[in-house]
Amino acid sequence: MDPTQSINTMHTENQVQVRVRFAPSPTGELHIGGLRTALFNLLFARRHCGRAILRIDDTDRERSREEHLMSILESFSWLGLTFDEGPVQGGPYGPYRQSERLALYRDVLDKLVAEGKAYPCYCSAETLEASRKEQLKAGKTPRYAGTCRHLTPEEHAEKDKAGIRPVYRLKVDREEPLVVHDLIRGKVVFQPDQLDDFVIMKSDGTPTYHLASVIDDALMKITHILRAEEHLSNTPRHVLLFEALGTTPPQFAHVPMILAKDRSKLSKRHGATSVEAFRDLGYLPEALVNYSLLLGYAPPDDREHFHWEELAKTFELDRVAKHPAVYDTDKLRWMNAYYMRTLPLERIFEEARPFLIKAGYVDRTFTSDDERSLTLRRIDAVRERVSTLLELVDGLAYFYRPIQSYDEKGVRKHFSKPDVAAHLRRAARDLTALTVWDLDSTERVFRQTIEDLGISGGALIHPTRLAISGRTVGPGLFDIMVLLGKDETIKRMVEAADWIEAHSSGERHISVEDDAPSSS
Ligand code: ZN
Repeated sequence: MDPTQSINTMHTENQVQVRVRFAPSPTGELHIGGLRTALFNLLFARRHCGRAILRIDDTDRERSREEHLMSILESFSWLGLTFDEGPVQGGPYGPYRQSERLALYRDVLDKLVAEGKAYPCYCSAETLEASRKEQLKAGKTPRYAGTCRHLTPEEHAEKDKAGIRPVYRLKVDREEPLVVHDLIRGKVVFQPDQLDDFVIMKSDGTPTYHLASVIDDALMKITHILRAEEHLSNTPRHVLLFEALGTTPPQFAHVPMILAKDRSKLSKRHGATSVEAFRDLGYLPEALVNYSLLLGYAPPDDREHFHWEELAKTFELDRVAKHPAVYDTDKLRWMNAYYMRTLPLERIFEEARPFLIKAGYVDRTFTSDDERSLTLRRIDAVRERVSTLLELVDGLAYFYRPIQSYDEKGVRKHFSKPDVAAHLRRAARDLTALTVWDLDSTERVFRQTIEDLGISGGALIHPTRLAISGRTVGPGLFDIMVLLGKDETIKRMVEAADWIEAHSSGERHISVEDDAPSSS
């Protein structure tokens, strides 16, 4: 195949299908910024009935890692985001990993050299640095001096013979400003003195990011490049390369940065920023996707909760903010809490399951349907009050583990009243008589005990909650009783009575004096 020829046939059809690409480097995990850019690409493709391509920019052999690629692919799969073409599903313009396309870049380079559009440069790093310093001293913007542009074939042969491996540069003869009409930022003008003969192939024979990216965008018939703002400064070089290849450049849209709350560039020191890290912290894919989209995008109806595919129907690039978005963990937590409460219970269970297994609360395989359904009911009781899956696991602890300790404040407040141990024993005894253990029966018997003892509801409810959960807040008391089971509930009430009696000698006075008498 002659790659240049196929480049030239681009945009010849009348009806050009929208084609966009997300091109991560496997040099790290997928970050929240990358996720947002990927989403904008997917939305734009859906909106225009086009195709979204995942391309892996792994020409940097030293920094690219297979495990990072796996992690990126795994993140997309967990997020439920799929591309139309890419390294996993293939497609008509593959391969989609740049490391598998090196021969193709070399062919294009040879063609550019043959056409006199690119040339080898043998300048040493020292020579280039000296020239740079000289220009800076003279108050000029440092540019490549063009030294190797005019080498004769004999001089080339001599350098090659001396074993100097050249880089290749693109010849740039541009006098007038280069104007890019960015779909988000509008008109951006680059002055010709910012452009010089830049390197397109390194001395080890691998293409620079610019060359590989532009060749692939041309060959893969990319119509719109939606990418991070940090690439804006690369855009004039890319336009020049498209022109050298004889191709009309795609349209560009540069997405503003994401800043931390302190307005600095978002980085690791701001806590979790990768999809994988958020997953480990117990965030849901629905929340991460929804939140990422709200970073710098204003949906037409001001809604805050939506599925990304819904948003695709109305997605417009002119709704993307032109200023940087500020990343806010509190907002993400709030978003996650919303999905914890509102997603189908089975969906929460699916995401919670690895966490529950890790905590040792459930087995990989449930021994019975009853056990599974009990776990689901427990999750349902707790999920209203938590923001993440980790908090859910913590909130479920007392259903699966004996109580390690009672909440300290709760002990001072609820275990220090006179007769509380005796009341707990009495309530436990009354409950023992029950043959049906459900919300109605437990509540009925419990209320009867309160009446018989002639105390306030709270005087028994609070100590009982503390006795059976170790905590002062949580689901309704009778929900906890039912989800814990009869035997365990009664056992814990008796254990708490024992504990109170063992710890009450001498301490009770202090506790009582400390604590203002509350409702009774
Ligand atoms: Zn040179």
